[in-house]
Amino acid sequence: MRLKGFLAAAAAAATALSLAACSSGSPASGESGAANEGGSASEFPVASNVELTDSPTFDAMKSAGKVRVGVKEDQPGLGYLDAVTGERSGFDIDVARWIAAELGFSTDQIEFQKIPSANREQALINGDIDYYVGTYSITDKRKDQVGFAGPYFVTGQGLLVKADNTDITSDKDLAGKTVCSATGSTPIQNIKDNYPDTKTTEFDTYSQCVEALKDGSVDAVTTDQAILIGYAAQEPDALKVVGEPFSVEKYGVGVPKDDAALRHFINKVFTDGGATWTKIYDATLGASGTKVEQPAVDDYE
Ligand code: GLU
Repeated sequence: MRLKGFLAAAAAAATALSLAACSSGSPASGESGAANEGGSASEFPVASNVELTDSPTFDAMKSAGKVRVGVKEDQPGLGYLDAVTGERSGFDIDVARWIAAELGFSTDQIEFQKIPSANREQALINGDIDYYVGTYSITDKRKDQVGFAGPYFVTGQGLLVKADNTDITSDKDLAGKTVCSATGSTPIQNIKDNYPDTKTTEFDTYSQCVEALKDGSVDAVTTDQAILIGYAAQEPDALKVVGEPFSVEKYGVGVPKDDAALRHFINKVFTDGGATWTKIYDATLGASGTKVEQPAVDDYE
């Protein structure tokens, strides 16, 4: 076993013991095997004596012995699953692991679930997941259905085009063009509401849009610049990001709407954990050298 794997297993065992001591259910193992080999248990020491009362979600996590986290897995730098190694990586993935560690769970006790943009609210309402970390913009409409901790990151809507494209340099050039985005996302809604001369194509995921861009069936992909930069970095000869951001997207951690205690707990993790935030950012989105500040947390009722 590699050292990382050993550390993760040791942390899992320790947490299993402490959870068994404080919950009636027996801890179940989360996602197992290769998918956890790249875990960061050594980076996020498992907390002991977590003080979180009045959280139905946390109570359910403790009796299940695992945390169920909704994520994306096709967004490099943010939420990505390497199909070959089974390793998950990215800013959102590490934020999800950090929160789990603060809640007293090891990397091995996290069960990641791939949930596309359009299904996030329903997954939280149904109780399919305990929280969601995946480029999830805080909006008033979504706040009617779910709670948000954060924001933990701020970006804005941008455009991805083919590297040899010269006629789209900003959102001012979208009239008569076809742009692709994800169903249920804020960027597709913005195009539908405010760009009446622009046609839209939708898929569940942004990677499907990138394929459509490369095969010429759409002129641009639009979503948050942080996401688009990840695609362009993977294929710099084929793709480029153009223009300035034309919206403000504040990323929150989605939690069940009735669970104010969990929301406050995660907000406190962000407020107190500036050094950890910076470490995660530097290792993922900031690896290219771009510096940004952690945004101040808001209390979204
Ligand atoms: N942040 C935007 C949203 O939450 C776009 C990215 C996404 O679809 O996850 O809709």
